[in-house]
Amino acid sequence: MRIIGLTGGIASGKSTVSKELQALGAVIIDADKIAWRLAEPGGAIWQEYYDRYGDVVINDDNSLNRRAVAERVFADKSELKWMNEMAHPLIRAELVNKVKALSAQEDDLAEEMIVVLDVPLLFESKWQILANETWLVYTTYDLQVARLKSRNNMNREEAEQRIDSQMSMEEKRSMADFIIENTGTREELLKDVHHLWNRLVKK
Ligand code: ATP
Repeated sequence: MRIIGLTGGIASGKSTVSKELQALGAVIIDADKIAWRLAEPGGAIWQEYYDRYGDVVINDDNSLNRRAVAERVFADKSELKWMNEMAHPLIRAELVNKVKALSAQEDDLAEEMIVVLDVPLLFESKWQILANETWLVYTTYDLQVARLKSRNNMNREEAEQRIDSQMSMEEKRSMADFIIENTGTREELLKDVHHLWNRLVKK
């Protein structure tokens, strides 16, 4: 088994890359999906938010009001810190369990497998030690803002607030083993992904 730590910045193109890797045969473990599941009613993260913010972040059907949570968490650095310190260990434990379950499969299956840990905050959380190598989907600040404006309907200020709450792309760039440039077309992006994949399967 080889484990790739795939990361990026918000709206840098990581999901596009992850989908392509899945189509090529990688097994994807998606940290956002894990987080999402833990934030469903009764989940460990759901409980933490309820304990901290109370009814105001819970909808009538008991689901988490994610917008209300985001307003609190992203508006205040100390809340963001609390959220990270609360959620990361819970997500990490799930992620490690999933890798363990995969490696417990039959020998040849597990040996051939390429597992991609799709983790937005791979470097911030220092989870790169869980992977054999790290890949960064890189793009410029201006493109991140433009994609957030069109994809998430954010205004410039909201987009910049989200981007600035993460480690800068330049710092991530200095930490990654491989950089996937996503400053051109989608086709160029996918070509880069295939190139890295081929290198991996030929090893
Ligand atoms: P997040 O972590 O914020 O969910 P992400 O890094 O997974 O984002 P994607 O969802 O893959 O990023 O891409 C962000 C948006 O930009 C999407 O709407 C996607 O279709 C678009 N996009 C990504 N790469 C390109 C590209 N090279 N050309 C045009 N659009 C792109």
